[in-house]
Amino acid sequence: MRSFFHPFQDRHVPKSYLNRGKMRQPQELPERTGYILEALEELGQEVEEPKDRGMAPIAKVHHPGYLRFLESAHRRWTAGPDDWGEEVISNIYSRSPSPLRSLIGEAAFYQADGSCPIGEGTWEAAYWSAQTALAAGDAIRRGERLAYGLCRPPGHHARPDAAGGFCYLNNAAIAAEALTPDFPRIAILDPDMHHGQGIQEVFYERDDVFYVSVHGDPGNFYPVVSGYEDERGAGAGHGYNLNMPMPHGSSEEYFLGRIDEAMRAVSLFAPDLLIVTLGFDIYEGDPQAKVSVSSKGFARMAERFADSGTPLLVIQEGGYDLESLGENTRQFFSTLLRS
Ligand SMILES: [Zn+2]
Repeated sequence: MRSFFHPFQDRHVPKSYLNRGKMRQPQELPERTGYILEALEELGQEVEEPKDRGMAPIAKVHHPGYLRFLESAHRRWTAGPDDWGEEVISNIYSRSPSPLRSLIGEAAFYQADGSCPIGEGTWEAAYWSAQTALAAGDAIRRGERLAYGLCRPPGHHARPDAAGGFCYLNNAAIAAEALTPDFPRIAILDPDMHHGQGIQEVFYERDDVFYVSVHGDPGNFYPVVSGYEDERGAGAGHGYNLNMPMPHGSSEEYFLGRIDEAMRAVSLFAPDLLIVTLGFDIYEGDPQAKVSVSSKGFARMAERFADSGTPLLVIQEGGYDLESLGENTRQFFSTLLRS
């Protein structure tokens, strides 16, 4: 297995998290990566820094106005009036055509919720998180059977033109898009606690990338506005999007049953490459968990991915219980490394 991470990914240090009517302690913290890196080291994994492949593969997925906003917003915000906060965070949300005539107007359009503040190091961290995904994908393209991108900030909620759910750039979608010339049929299986509405949106009308998501019922749970069974894809992509929401409070057995069903759907698609967007937030002690998966459950899940017969690219998504991240990383990857 080859693993990738860039230290600049830790430069995103969010200070705000508006959720369910409260300002809460941010959960998507730079400390997350330290626990995962330590576990990889214990597994004997050498973690490589990604090369810089520039903006082109990122700009294939995200709109130019959104990228300009992400790159410049904090600089422009701090040049503004003294009583503005230290991070860019919108209290106005707009999905209608927006005039985008001011920085606050752009924030209203490009920040989809209250969990994606933009601080001084956010752009740099998101940029290198995407480069980490690309480097892991490139290792697969060069013949590696198993590669891991320790992507942080995570990506699966990032839409082509909006940040949301702790995500800024859609790492998995960027990697998948860059790999389509070499792997004409790509399946993305997303077992993170939350539905990855960004990945869904990017590939919704495509038949070359099959997106399957197993997640908590999105009624009153992020991302709320998507993740339902009847979202099946559109146009050429009709049938190439599969959402499998789980009732809140589901057991590990129920979760693994859904993963088995998702893997059956993946094998019927017969992909050339499987991308797994790994979220540790399904862990029973995670502040975001609506199912109860134990640490051993990550080993059991990994067994399901080990014999898919295709190369496997693992992209890190959520997981916010710091104490369990190391053990869950060990359980998941030691199982894959043994197989
Ligand atoms: Zn999640």
